[in-house]
Amino acid sequence: MPDGAVETSTEASPAAAGPVEAEWAAAVAAVRSVPADGRVLLICHVNPDGDALGSMLGFGLALRRLGVRRLQATFPGPPEVPDTLRGLPGEELLVPAAEAYPDPDLVVCFDAASESRLGELVDRLATAGTALVLDHHASNTRFGAVNLVDPCAAATSVVVDELLTRLGVPLDAGIAECLYVALTTDTGSFRFEATTPAVHHLAARLLATGIRPGDISRRIFDTRPFGAVRLFGEVLGRARLEPAAAGGRGLVWTYATLDDLARHGQRPYVLEALIDSVRCTAEADVSCVVKQTSPDEWAVSLRSKGAVDVSRVAVALGGGGHRFAAGFTGRGGAEQVVDAIRDQLDAALIDVRR
Ligand code: 5GP
Ligand code: MN
Repeated sequence: MPDGAVETSTEASPAAAGPVEAEWAAAVAAVRSVPADGRVLLICHVNPDGDALGSMLGFGLALRRLGVRRLQATFPGPPEVPDTLRGLPGEELLVPAAEAYPDPDLVVCFDAASESRLGELVDRLATAGTALVLDHHASNTRFGAVNLVDPCAAATSVVVDELLTRLGVPLDAGIAECLYVALTTDTGSFRFEATTPAVHHLAARLLATGIRPGDISRRIFDTRPFGAVRLFGEVLGRARLEPAAAGGRGLVWTYATLDDLARHGQRPYVLEALIDSVRCTAEADVSCVVKQTSPDEWAVSLRSKGAVDVSRVAVALGGGGHRFAAGFTGRGGAEQVVDAIRDQLDAALIDVRR
């Protein structure tokens, strides 16, 4: 799922400038010091999106080119890859979380802002010889021994690309397809503010390997089962617009239940794309989709067009994310979850005079 408009936090923090030379050098050393028969475990965040999976598998393919033989890629939770992300190069590296090396020589984490996003795999940070974190969330808690965190990067794949350059691994079509999926996912296909000249330069280098952007984009963004099309129609039909919310900037929201999914025969991940249809609403700055994950739990997606720092809303409610694209786990009923969000919106309004 797209991260939405990735934005650098306005707060000054050590990570705001991206990794320093010593951190890049430490990351290169961590990779290069894996013994010949060493085990490397790659982990991306729960419910992986295109950036998480693409960055992880692209890096995995590069490690293979460097001669790493004992190599696994995984993510917490059910070992289910969304249909749209199946068939990526390097997919054969994926193993269910339950089969992941218990004590790898090196663990590398992708696109996870905090340890909580690693679910049941969080113990590997302690059992691994070294833990390397690659990410672009401003809120990253720097939970690795070595942290490559660049909040200015449009996607985690930008950080991966820089590390591959420093490791001397050239791009091939397999690596490029993975990184392209990641880059297009997090820039909303080059539509969000984070689409800098550097993003287009990277896209050009990826395309130069011969990958087919039309095929990739159709598969990732423009394909869904007919049942999901009908499900979207129903869920969008119950969307509500609250023009007075967020200091008059407006809130639009909807929800989807497990029963909705069952009636249309759909898997939960198909709902990840729903926020993109909801956030089109002209009359609202903030958009929200509340997706039931168990009888009492909801995965919440929040987006803003620029008036509200939705990561503040998400953090206040136990989650995190980027300034204009964030999320958290809600409890109770869907209405209750939205009540809690509404209460946080005014405090999260961005003061344009700053
Ligand atoms: P999405 O709405 O696409 O699921 O998530 C948007 C962004 O919000 C993601 O990039 C991720 O950083 C963040 N996010 C979503 N859900 C959670 C959550 O439950 N906890 C945290 N910490 N961040 C989340
Ligand atoms: Mn990302």
